[in-house]
Amino acid sequence: MLRLYNTLLGNNIQVTPLNAPNFTMYVCGPTVYDRPHIGHGRSVLTFDLLRRYLQYRGLEVVHVSNITDVDDKIIARAQREAADPLELARDYEEQWWKAMDNLGVLRPHYAPRATEWIEQIVDLIEQLSRGGFTYVTKDGVYLDISKVSDYGLLAQQDLSNLQTSSRNFSEDKRQPLDFALWKFNSKQELYWDAPFGPGRPGWHTECVAMSTGILGHHFDLHGGGLDLKFPHHENERAQAKLLGYGFAQQWMHHGFVESGGVKMSKSLGNFTTLTEMLELYDPRSYRLLVARSHYRSPLEVTRELAEEAVSTLRRLDQFLDRLGDLIRDSNVMASDKVALTQEFEEAMDEDLNTPVAMRAIFEAITKGNTAFDAGEFQVAKGYGIQVSAALEALGLAPSVVAEEIPDSVLELARKRQLAKQDRDFASADIIRNEIRALGYTVEDSSNGYRIRRT
Ligand SMILES: [Zn+2]
Repeated sequence: MLRLYNTLLGNNIQVTPLNAPNFTMYVCGPTVYDRPHIGHGRSVLTFDLLRRYLQYRGLEVVHVSNITDVDDKIIARAQREAADPLELARDYEEQWWKAMDNLGVLRPHYAPRATEWIEQIVDLIEQLSRGGFTYVTKDGVYLDISKVSDYGLLAQQDLSNLQTSSRNFSEDKRQPLDFALWKFNSKQELYWDAPFGPGRPGWHTECVAMSTGILGHHFDLHGGGLDLKFPHHENERAQAKLLGYGFAQQWMHHGFVESGGVKMSKSLGNFTTLTEMLELYDPRSYRLLVARSHYRSPLEVTRELAEEAVSTLRRLDQFLDRLGDLIRDSNVMASDKVALTQEFEEAMDEDLNTPVAMRAIFEAITKGNTAFDAGEFQVAKGYGIQVSAALEALGLAPSVVAEEIPDSVLELARKRQLAKQDRDFASADIIRNEIRALGYTVEDSSNGYRIRRT
């Protein structure tokens, strides 16, 4: 069974769902004040790979990922653009989902918006206040972290180190690392009424209210990027602990996206946003890059690597095209001597070791092609079936990402097919070039043809 690195404990731990076959996971979602960037892509792809593999292993995943639609950055941008902050947040949220769909990630089962959870957030703050864990300053309600016995556990540092390194010192706070659960409304901006004064929720409190409100006080996994480990997740955990919640069994964090060894989230070489990257390349190319490096390592993304990924995908698709008829042919038995599935599962079970899993898949493709060339169809079929199942589990199978192909291109492809049937190869070639001029490639395959973006 799957073992995952638990950030809290610092080693790989076997995944034992609290309520099998259900598996409950909460992944911190975006603050919607701008277009999704490259770093977001890695985050959603990492947790999509996890979810798909858990499902492949037979678990019923309940996946929650929030939308932070009230935040200083949203309000600041709305003021700059003289826009309504909630409308601005809705617009960027729409762009977020569009990019997610293009990327081929499975949508979360629940995507709660912070502004729709105010009542529960206020209730949670009141509970913490009744427990004597909070205090009020002129700008908000704060959590007193000295009340949390093991604060710093997730950050894997002790409190005194964290306190001295904190730059968020405000004279009003009792300790530098105390954080706002509720921020009082100071100007004319977005606010809600609350017993402790009008204002808006703090980010760290939103996620506790929404995760436990949907998944219960104790759930299987909480995840996000390494940058969320501290202070965001530490502060979520602090509140949950004071409330006596079991909270997350497992904490999972992925590494940053880099370019030339420099952390990059907002802009990267020639493409600055995820949307731009998805316009330029087969959306599976980013998934392939993510799968080829381990989720806890830094991920290098450059234009060259994205282009290389596109040609790797072609190799993979060609293999499945080539063996498609054989896979479907019920007269040929698949050899049981092929061991890709076992190698794939062993790699994935050890903290989602996707680079090793990918290497095994590509070796299997080479062996499958060799067997096919040698006329060893049972062996080739064995590889074909197992490669296709592994790719499906990773979301890399060609069918997973539905590309939107314009009608004009589909019409040309149909005309080309008719020309070929009439053995009018000259016309077929001309049409192929017309399709290419529109930015698409048509390739012949065992079941007719396939169109993809170039
Ligand atoms: Zn969060």
